[in-house]
Amino acid sequence: MIGPNTAAAVAGGAYIAAALLFILSLAGLSKHDTSRRGVGFGIAGMAIALAATVWLTVAGAWGSPSGTIGLVLLVAAVLIGGAIGLWRARVVEMTGMPELIALLHSFVGLAAVLVGWNGHLAAGDVPAQLVDIHHAEVFIGVFIGAVTFTGSIVAFLKLSGRMSSTPLMLPGKNVLNVGALVAFLALTVWYVIAPSLGLLIAVTLLALALGWHLVASIGGGDMPVVVSMLNSYSGWAAAAAGFLLNNDLLIVTGALVGSSGAYLSYIMCKAMNRSFLSVIAGGFGIEAPRGDDEVAGEHRETDAASVAELLASARSVIITPGYGMAVAQAQYPVAELTAALRARGVEVRFGIHPVAGRLPGHMNVLLAEAKVPYDIVLELDEINDDFSDTDVVLVIGANDTVNPAAAEDPGSPIAGMPVLHVWEAANVIVFKRSMASGYAGVQNPLFFRENTQMLFGDAKDRVDDILRALTV
Ligand code: NDP
Repeated sequence: MIGPNTAAAVAGGAYIAAALLFILSLAGLSKHDTSRRGVGFGIAGMAIALAATVWLTVAGAWGSPSGTIGLVLLVAAVLIGGAIGLWRARVVEMTGMPELIALLHSFVGLAAVLVGWNGHLAAGDVPAQLVDIHHAEVFIGVFIGAVTFTGSIVAFLKLSGRMSSTPLMLPGKNVLNVGALVAFLALTVWYVIAPSLGLLIAVTLLALALGWHLVASIGGGDMPVVVSMLNSYSGWAAAAAGFLLNNDLLIVTGALVGSSGAYLSYIMCKAMNRSFLSVIAGGFGIEAPRGDDEVAGEHRETDAASVAELLASARSVIITPGYGMAVAQAQYPVAELTAALRARGVEVRFGIHPVAGRLPGHMNVLLAEAKVPYDIVLELDEINDDFSDTDVVLVIGANDTVNPAAAEDPGSPIAGMPVLHVWEAANVIVFKRSMASGYAGVQNPLFFRENTQMLFGDAKDRVDDILRALTV
């Protein structure tokens, strides 16, 4: 028979080990060559955390009917949730990852709301001297959870194209956001003094509306910040649930996710030259995109054989991949093309924009998957000065991240966002299927420049065609 103190001590030790592994995991994930080890640490930490939680439940279930019910519910939840998670992870396309992540964040938010509501119902079991703190935890947990829940659902709808990426421009939207925060603070004080179900319902509805409005007000180009911001919110929601459940590991893990997500949002804002506070506050001051209907001139088309010829005679080539490479799954032929050109003595490098694709690090993951050597994959800052000295740039499914309007047109909705200066190269080949705009919905003058040629079609098919033409 295991005593409750022994069970808690064993679980506490396991939680500390898991928390340390999560920290090592984050440290490992910060560099290419240690990222695999980082993932390993994360998996080990999660396995230990799950085992300790099951152990605590089993130890608590011994001889107690409510404990047995808890154990049955836990096993059922792990089996059902695990099966759904395995199935989704197996079938999701790499291009569907951002929306899946947004959906998973919404679950964390919902869980925090449910834990908060449960905390309200179970307030009678809390010692009298802790009851005020408990009520504050309930209210704050429900608020953060509900904002995360609806915010993540809107992000999911926008990222999956089920909702327009144009920002919602309600009149007085900043006043609405600030007003909601002030109302939340006032309601929290009221609830701590005189807790009631009515106040809890009020804060839940207020936070659900605020989460929806915050993310709906953000334009397509700023979505990378939203994804990392919701990641951060989901961490704080988990930490709030940890306080209520008295679970140290959930508090530590939630704080790790919350702070690393906040730091990632800051990095994304810097990458896009946006003010962190303005995006966090729901697109404060962001103008709606002007639309996509301006005609910017004539474009020139080319074919795979001509591009192969150009590449064969080039000295230096830079490849700038974007979301279209992920859609086409073109990373494998791109890696083959890279190897073929390097074997001919051509210098090939990659220029990666921090928000290329639909996920932080999206392009790095794809290129690593296709075994492109890390040392030729360079960040925007490392490569931007080299375009003027480059013979050919292959823009493979990138659009917003290579748009000169960001650098040259102060009236553009993406004005000020640092972009890859591909147009400075001698020749630019743009791989895409049509003249459609990118995610931010902004037309791209690059397509109409004299040194730009369009190679239309699916990026994978076109790169395959070039490879064939190179080898004949
Ligand atoms: P964009 O989304 O701007 O453009 C992608 C281009 O790929 C489109 O113009 C499309 O043109 C083309 N494309 C799509 N499918 C294919 C295909 N099968 N073959 C060839 N081309 C294809 O891409 P970028 O990577 O340059 O920019 C990313 C954008 O996404 C930025 O606006 C960023 O802010 C936003 N974003 C980024 C996130 C992140 O974390 N990285 C998260 C959320 C949003 P066509 O249809 O004509 O083929």
